[in-house]
Amino acid sequence: MTTVFVRVSHRHLSKRNTNLSMIGRDELGHRSETVRRANLSTIVRELHANGPQTRSDLVTHSGLTRSAIRALTGELVAGNLALEGPSELDGTPGRPSPLVRPDPDGAVVLALEIAVDSLAAAMVGLGGQVHDLVRVDLPRGRSSVADIASGLARLSTTVRDGLAPDAVITGIAVAVVGVVRRADGMVSMAPNLGWRDEALGDALAATLALDVPITFANEADLAVLAEHRRGAARGADDVVLAWGSVGVGGGLIVAGQPLTGAAGYAGEIGHVPVNPDGRPCRCGSTGCWETEVGFSALFRRAGYPPEAGHEAFDAILAEAEAGSSFALDAFAETGRWLGIGLAGVINVMNPRLVLLGGRLAPSYPYVRATLEAELDRRVLRAARGLVRVIPAALGEDATLLGAAELAFEPLLSDPAAWLRPRRGMAALATA
Ligand SMILES: [Zn+2]
Repeated sequence: MTTVFVRVSHRHLSKRNTNLSMIGRDELGHRSETVRRANLSTIVRELHANGPQTRSDLVTHSGLTRSAIRALTGELVAGNLALEGPSELDGTPGRPSPLVRPDPDGAVVLALEIAVDSLAAAMVGLGGQVHDLVRVDLPRGRSSVADIASGLARLSTTVRDGLAPDAVITGIAVAVVGVVRRADGMVSMAPNLGWRDEALGDALAATLALDVPITFANEADLAVLAEHRRGAARGADDVVLAWGSVGVGGGLIVAGQPLTGAAGYAGEIGHVPVNPDGRPCRCGSTGCWETEVGFSALFRRAGYPPEAGHEAFDAILAEAEAGSSFALDAFAETGRWLGIGLAGVINVMNPRLVLLGGRLAPSYPYVRATLEAELDRRVLRAARGLVRVIPAALGEDATLLGAAELAFEPLLSDPAAWLRPRRGMAALATA
């Protein structure tokens, strides 16, 4: 038996060697199919990230040939992922290169968010166009996983209502205010919701009942993804985002890629110990960074109850804007602790950009001076010279927009898997 097997194998080898035209075709076909799918991915990523552009621009940005771009954009247009039309005349002689843009109805994703005091859902089209976005208040305190899952299901029904009948949802992602495992939505800890080891993924999959894969991530990880793609960190490859609300989360981009750690738990900068004699933290430790820079610390310093909500934050902000020295001092002390914590993060990560997101963004003018002073004292000179600290640009919805970006990832990696005939064309074909 062994002999026969070897002989067959040899025959196969010799055939391969001597008759390339017969055997090589399959292999070449396979290889060119791989190249085609990779090229489609390059173009769809380019259109999704940077919006409409002429075929000539795509040639420049992708490095592909003019004829390859023409064939690939033709496929994307026929397959419902791109639209093509005449570009504006720009005064240069000759025929203008056609303008290609992502088709925002061709592929859509459902982005969901569980924040400290709200739930949100958005339907986002290819290219980042937000078709619909709803946000509802969530009462602070304990909420059951079942309640949250059914609340999100109701919101998702609302945002799906306005969709074109033939729109295809290609992905779902959920931003969670807590420590969550990306693969299955197991929430290890979400103190604001009173959750520990809760199977959010199972509950949500059952309640949404959509046959689409669901991905989960921490809110700050998604906020930095959105800021990197479409906000204040565009073009920056090494970014730290500190996302402040009740607690403080962190999102990290390293060499252009999100840093997630082994299971998605990386970036919990709010729980870096900064004060050994500090207060108890909701994570069970003491003196974590967020006990000095989260809501309760600011409220304590400004004379509000530590458990007050975002209305208290808005009130302190208004007092600071009006010049209240009490409020300004509270922000200045928070800024000092922000600087102490960020100095450690900057020394470890060597970022070019630090973004202050969430409620830290509007705080920026009032924390800036003391924060920068601490960085001057504590950051290594070489790293200090490279880093800028600025407010994030996308506001409260950054996490939801980041969830949309995460949900688009399977489509961006292999758009060929999502090509399908346009409805009108399908009707013509069957007529
Ligand atoms: Zn902690």
